[in-house]
Amino acid sequence: MRYSEMFLPTVREVPSDAEIISHQLMIRAGMIRKLTSGIYTYLPLGYRVIRKLERIIREEMDRAGAQELFMPTVQPRELWEESGRWSFYGKELLRFKDRNDRDCCLGPTHEEVITDLVRNEIKTYRHLPRNLYQIQTKFRDEIRPRFGVMRCREFGMKDAYSFDADEEGAEISYQKMFEAYTEIFKRCGLEFRAVEADTGSIGGSFSHEFMVMAATGEDSLVFCSNCEYAANLEKAEIAAPEIQPVRTENMLPLESVHTPNMRTIEEVSSFLRVAPRDIVKTMIYTADGQPVAVLVSGDEEVNEIKVKNYLNCDVLEMAMDDVIHEVTGAPRGFAGAVGIKVKIIADCSLSNMTNFVMGANKEDYHIKNVNMGRDVSVTAFADLRIARETDSCARCGRALKFARGIEVGHVFKLGTKYSKAMKAQYLDKNGKEQYMIMGCYGIGVGRTVAAAIEQNHDENGIVWPLPLAPYQVIITPVSAKDDKIKGMSVQLYEALKQRGIEVILDDRDERAGVKFKDADLIGIPLRVTVGQKLLTAGVLEVKIRMTGEVKALAADAVEDFVINYINRGI
Ligand code: ATP
Ligand code: MG
Repeated sequence: MRYSEMFLPTVREVPSDAEIISHQLMIRAGMIRKLTSGIYTYLPLGYRVIRKLERIIREEMDRAGAQELFMPTVQPRELWEESGRWSFYGKELLRFKDRNDRDCCLGPTHEEVITDLVRNEIKTYRHLPRNLYQIQTKFRDEIRPRFGVMRCREFGMKDAYSFDADEEGAEISYQKMFEAYTEIFKRCGLEFRAVEADTGSIGGSFSHEFMVMAATGEDSLVFCSNCEYAANLEKAEIAAPEIQPVRTENMLPLESVHTPNMRTIEEVSSFLRVAPRDIVKTMIYTADGQPVAVLVSGDEEVNEIKVKNYLNCDVLEMAMDDVIHEVTGAPRGFAGAVGIKVKIIADCSLSNMTNFVMGANKEDYHIKNVNMGRDVSVTAFADLRIARETDSCARCGRALKFARGIEVGHVFKLGTKYSKAMKAQYLDKNGKEQYMIMGCYGIGVGRTVAAAIEQNHDENGIVWPLPLAPYQVIITPVSAKDDKIKGMSVQLYEALKQRGIEVILDDRDERAGVKFKDADLIGIPLRVTVGQKLLTAGVLEVKIRMTGEVKALAADAVEDFVINYINRGI
């Protein structure tokens, strides 16, 4: 394409509302424009990258035996009532009424629609397994849309759904998708990791997230320095200590201490001169409306997902002040577990703790010398805290490592969650009705593109991995006036186009510096500079964006160099 004819509005200034580099660069490189909060238009350059990614996704999904279909965005309430998610999904589900006063929603995901389709069409084991996918627009009314297309409200997702007759089949379907995803992100040229993850509002029994590694990622991941274990920090298990009996011989008598206005661990710790390790935090939550106390050491944080999974509840929330008052008889900041009547669960590390400090359930007071067993009756000890860098692997006991990443894909084993709720049944070999076993598999298309930029950029702009680059080559004549330079540029442009290379000819009447800046900003992998050296020595310069390396090549060798470079792949 000739640059002079392109719709490619690049911007020099950093947009004020763009916090992260990929968002800034997508705006500056003329890839996206915001329509309204969390809703974006992809401009031609951005859309080319989307299409490149979609092509890789389609090829790998098809190779894995999945079949593409296309489902609607608008979905009727009735299906969501059947799955139970109409009320459960919360405000991310955008609900509205049509002219006939019928409740509808914009699909944030498609389990309901696909399950409805498949239950109506598949009746026998002979038609299983099936894996159906689409690349389609989702709408999620995110509470805080941010980071451009990374966390927006309207976005493209590849979503796939597998239906199997039995568990073994479902496991194979899951593995196939796991492998397809691995192949997709590998082919994109991205550094990534698959980690164990929580199943969230989609539900189900087991899942992995695919994370693109990037220091700026929203997610923390934990992986073992020795074995294969890798998990989202939200889920990361640790080698929890054995539950130990408490040693009664050293127990001191309880002592109430006046701690005026000391509500935080830091305040209590410095006021009483005890280490945070010797203080136990009592956090009051409500689990499906029932109050429960969760205990962790003063220097640890509660992992709410572990608590939620342990309690097997649908909604876990920090208790409001009135509930805290009802449970403890005191305002927030002074809760303790001595004498309270609700269920108490505690982190394993606390099982044999003696003579610690905790809230006194009385305003402005704490108690010293609290002892497990004697003073606090814990219903159960479990791994309830957030993993830390000093923890070791739950599988092999070796050191854990931490990194940051961006979740670009998610594979779930759903089991029979939706097939039971929505009666998706088939007849087995013996003519008996069985529920289908499902899996679901998502890739955020726009988010993957943003993550690719987050991982591949420098101070001058985007550095596209070749497989995602919107164009592979940009030819930059340093002068739009010199006939020889112009002639050579056009000749090379036509020749590369002929050979199927995606090439931009920067034929704008601009200074060379401006052209170089734009080429770097939009991140084209190869830039061929046609300049004075052509006139003096018959030489063109090829600059490799990824390494910054510049090669001076005889004009007639450039075409082959470019082809070879591109054929090498990444
Ligand atoms: P997150 O925890 O980031 O909100 P999720 O767990 O809600 O993600 P899934 O329901 O598993 O996401 O959706 C599948 C994929 O869709 C995600 O892996 C992600 O790549 C993409 N995705 C989800 N929400 C958004 C969003 N608001 N904007 C862009 N992409 C998204
Ligand atoms: Mg989400």
